[in-house]
Amino acid sequence: MNRRITDKNNFLFIRMIFLVLFVSLFMAGLSIYLIKSSNIVLYNAILNIILIGSVLSTILVFMNGILIVRLLKGKKINSLSRIWMDFFLRYIYIIIIYSSQILRVDKNRIRYVFSQLNNNLILSSGLKVKPEEILVLLPHCLQKTTCPHKITVDINNCKRCGLCDINGLVELKDQYNVRLFVATGGTLARKIINEIRPKAIIAVACERDLSSGILDVKKIPVMGILNERPEGPCINTRVSLDKIEETIKFFIEKGKQ
Ligand code: SF4
Repeated sequence: MNRRITDKNNFLFIRMIFLVLFVSLFMAGLSIYLIKSSNIVLYNAILNIILIGSVLSTILVFMNGILIVRLLKGKKINSLSRIWMDFFLRYIYIIIIYSSQILRVDKNRIRYVFSQLNNNLILSSGLKVKPEEILVLLPHCLQKTTCPHKITVDINNCKRCGLCDINGLVELKDQYNVRLFVATGGTLARKIINEIRPKAIIAVACERDLSSGILDVKKIPVMGILNERPEGPCINTRVSLDKIEETIKFFIEKGKQ
């Protein structure tokens, strides 16, 4: 999963590089032309275009800054701003995540903020769906490593011994009638999503897989819930059942948001 998603991110990043390269070359060409040109009218026109462009980009940066701060504080934003932010966050995330390599910033911190912004964007939408239209996607590392029951095939194979959080998650599935699956990787996750065709997804994963999954699934809102790793990554991980229940309720309960 992560390999393909990373490749997609790389592709997006390469597109961004080409865009920046194109703009830089255009500006360089323009500057050379202006220096060599003696056409005052054209010179003034181009200067005005550059000035207007700079003013518009400053306004854009300022407006995006306000929207991001509002989202980080969990405040609502209007539907037009939501559509814009959904697009903007995906692109800015790619730029920031690659810049973090140069600036030596912990990528997981950026991934965490990105998934939180994404969650707040969905919360701000007040989206409501039927319980059976909700897909809860879980990583297989939630299952106790010593458990012999194969829940990746069917989550109902869990014998409810209570040694891991799968027990509580199956209880939530039965209580709210949502769809619950364990995905061993991105290919299986995509297959499940294509078959179920949910209207909302609640995904449990680490920072890296959450942000990748959110970027990978475009037309369905994905609420990301971070797993807990008391024994280290990818082994006997845990998840807050309260957070999962709270998210299910958000999607199905009308008039409470
Ligand atoms: S709760 Fe279910 S999945 Fe977890 S160890 Fe027990 S039987 Fe296995």
